[in-house]
Amino acid sequence: YATTSPDVDREGPAVGALLDVVGAGIPVPLADGREVPYANLDQAASAPCLRGVAEHVERVLPYPASVHRGTGYSSAVCTALYEGARDAVRTFVGGRPDDVVIFTRNTTDSVNLLARCLPPQPPDPARTSDPGHAVPGGVVVFDLEHHANLLPWRSRPGCRWVPAAPTRADTLRALATALDTAPTSLVAVTGASNVTGEVPPLAEIVRLARAAGARVFVDGAQLVPHRRVDMAALGIDYLAFSGHKLYAPFGAGVLVGRPDWLAAAPPYLAGGGAVREVTSSAVAWADGPARHEAGSPNLLGATAIAAACRLLGALDARDLHQHEDLLRRRLVDGLRAIEGVTVHSLWADGDDPTESEAATRPIGVVTFSVAGRDPGFVAAVLSAEHGVGVRAGRFCAHPLLARLGADSGAIRASVGVSSTSADVDRLLAGLAELVGDGPRQRYHELSE
Ligand code: PLP
Repeated sequence: YATTSPDVDREGPAVGALLDVVGAGIPVPLADGREVPYANLDQAASAPCLRGVAEHVERVLPYPASVHRGTGYSSAVCTALYEGARDAVRTFVGGRPDDVVIFTRNTTDSVNLLARCLPPQPPDPARTSDPGHAVPGGVVVFDLEHHANLLPWRSRPGCRWVPAAPTRADTLRALATALDTAPTSLVAVTGASNVTGEVPPLAEIVRLARAAGARVFVDGAQLVPHRRVDMAALGIDYLAFSGHKLYAPFGAGVLVGRPDWLAAAPPYLAGGGAVREVTSSAVAWADGPARHEAGSPNLLGATAIAAACRLLGALDARDLHQHEDLLRRRLVDGLRAIEGVTVHSLWADGDDPTESEAATRPIGVVTFSVAGRDPGFVAAVLSAEHGVGVRAGRFCAHPLLARLGADSGAIRASVGVSSTSADVDRLLAGLAELVGDGPRQRYHELSE
């Protein structure tokens, strides 16, 4: 293969050096007995933990006490840390001062929570100027979503799927038509595709939704780790993301957004912490985020997310973006130069990370197919023979894979702050070698 992309390590900003991660380049055993440093190109699934986040978690560990529930010193420390984590998240994503920050298990949990909080009743006519209250309506989603942002809405009355068209402009027209067809309370859209890395035109989507009296939920699982998000400036009403994709450990996620629907809905989970008063005949549920956070909170998860927000927030976003743009470019150029490889993209207008508008530049997630090769086999060879971790399958986005003509799956490579051009080159070299080789024989060898 040939690549004309600039060398990220030489010419790009050293984001990886600024944001050291735990376990970078751990040795992996290859099928031939050699050991090589792990090239983690599966960061869209889960990203390695930032060293600063791990250090933060270690600093919190000596305070093993219950948040909101004790009078002891440790408990006070934990409560202050937990509540402070909400502020760090709100600041990082540009939330409005009254936006509520609810800690959940992950993005999937956050979307399910919001889906349970959609107002079931026709709105108060006195509030018709408030988006989302103007009309009692359903939810509009695109067919390009991760299942986490499809399935929770599917059972909502009036849920409509908008097929994404081959250009962003036509996709917006399809949305406008869907919004004209029936009343809509919420448009739910991904901030960045977990398959192609493409970024929908969020500003225009918000504008169309507003004009139709609807609110907007953005699934930020992929966007938030890779692009600076400003909820207030963009007019995003709700945003969800996961800690384990934001360079924090597993187990915690966030829902940020307007408080009224969340305050009016029954608690997501019933139990301790979500109540103000319980008698044998009545329960008065808590207000604020506690209403939906029953049970002992995940202090480590929440404060790890907050630490990641602070660390990423302290970076110059342009460095982060440039680092990733260059890696994506190198990956896409290299893949396209290999015979039989197709890089999948949804929209004809702008999948080039350096030429498209900054607001819609794709993130470092690239999905491709290799003619005549099973995706699982390709991924297995890359791992066993080159120490490169990618993902094969349908990426919890079956409708999108079908739309891309990859019903039987594809291969996804994705980068993060610690990724290097050497990681990308190892994948490209491994793939080039594989394509020029006899796959059946190799599969046989591999499975022995
Ligand atoms: N949304 C998108 C765009 C994703 O990529 C993912 C995970 O891959 C999710 C939602 C679900 O995230 P989680 O598994 O952390 O709930």
